[in-house]
Amino acid sequence: MRLSRFFLPTLKETPTEAQIVSHRLMLRAGMIRQHAAGIYNWLPLGTRVLQNIIQIVREEQNAAGAQEIIMPTIQSGDLWKESGRYDDYGPEMLRIKDRHERDMLYGPTHEEVVTDIFRNNIKSYRDLPKNLYQINWKFRDEVRPRFGLMRGREFLMKDAYSFDINYERSKHAYNQMFVAYLRTFARLGLKAIPMKADSGPIGGDLSHEFIVLADTGESAVFCHKALLEKPAPSNVDYEADLQPIIDDWTSLYAATDDKHDPAMATTLGGDLVSARGIEVGHIFHFGKKYSEPMKANVIGPDGSPVTVMMGSYGIGVSRLVAAIIEASHDEHGIVWPESVAPFDIGLINLKVGDPDCDAACKKIHDALCLMHKDVLYDDRDDRAGVKFADMDLIGLPWQIVVGPKGVAKGVVELKRRATGQKEELSFDAAVAKLTVM
Ligand code: ATP
Ligand code: MG
Repeated sequence: MRLSRFFLPTLKETPTEAQIVSHRLMLRAGMIRQHAAGIYNWLPLGTRVLQNIIQIVREEQNAAGAQEIIMPTIQSGDLWKESGRYDDYGPEMLRIKDRHERDMLYGPTHEEVVTDIFRNNIKSYRDLPKNLYQINWKFRDEVRPRFGLMRGREFLMKDAYSFDINYERSKHAYNQMFVAYLRTFARLGLKAIPMKADSGPIGGDLSHEFIVLADTGESAVFCHKALLEKPAPSNVDYEADLQPIIDDWTSLYAATDDKHDPAMATTLGGDLVSARGIEVGHIFHFGKKYSEPMKANVIGPDGSPVTVMMGSYGIGVSRLVAAIIEASHDEHGIVWPESVAPFDIGLINLKVGDPDCDAACKKIHDALCLMHKDVLYDDRDDRAGVKFADMDLIGLPWQIVVGPKGVAKGVVELKRRATGQKEELSFDAAVAKLTVM
């Protein structure tokens, strides 16, 4: 992609409305623009990151046995009257009347809709287990939308819903999502810590939040430092008993400030980490809370109806973009983990119009594209300082700098964004090195 053609409205000045670093950097890097309070447009650079995150979330959901569906964003109020939540949900729910004066709403969550899909289509215990998920926009009319994507009103969520015949199977579905979450966040380059949570307004008896540590997090968190070093499970057999993995992750102390036991500071001593955190995921097991009032029954093994057990599992996909930036940036801008970076490589031509520089860039660009690398080629006729600053700001993992002096010697400079480390390499060596990355 040529930067001269790419829609990348970067800003030199720090926007005054942005209070936290991820919001500032997303605006400055031309990733998003606000449309209305808590509602954003995603520009091409932001969209590319969001799509990369979506893909990782999707792959890990699929691997854990969940199946992707798409539910409507606009829902009928009738289902919510059935579950009893229509009046309970409060002003966070955006209520709409259609032209026939019917009660509609913009979905803040989808338990009712998915339970309706289930009960209309699944009739026997033999069809269980089922886990359905979507990656879709939610609307919650938050009192104080703030911090950009961190607490928006419209935001992208992955929400999965499991259906099982009994508690034991339902707990297994919960454990599958728990493990999938550990793997998902690790692939996104994040350290996410599971914390036992209240099940909140959705209700239930088993719940964990996944918290990413970052200085600007909304909640204070305390945990055993060994949790921060634990690698996510690799090569998981999702059919096997996952309880030992869950026990291993939940046996170490971790709490948000409301549940923190101050005595732990003495007990754990130097092993206690106190930090701030961002909630990026939340899983609930809530049993029959919706299946009971909505009559989601199947025929059980003995021929009599059984009310199914359910759980729901959310990931704040758009919030993750901000959380990743909070966890990975420096004074020059964003430092993307390779797995989500909008492009793999930024190619900077220091002297556009110089036939040798142009030819070297074209050669490198084409070679990298052949190797299926995403390259953003800065071919703008602009000052070197502007180009370096923009490239650091948008945070691509690698930069190749092509200038007349180097080209005369047959070399380019390769820079790793995360460390700032630079090396001079021949064109071919630079391409070869990036190809194996
Ligand atoms: P919070 O406690 O932050 O208000 P919640 O408990 O209401 O969130 P859930 O219903 O558990 O949120 O939603 C699942 C995930 O969606 C959360 O873990 C969070 O990452 C994300 N999320 C929730 N509300 C917002 C929002 N207003 N903007 C962006 N992401 C959100
Ligand atoms: Mg929550």
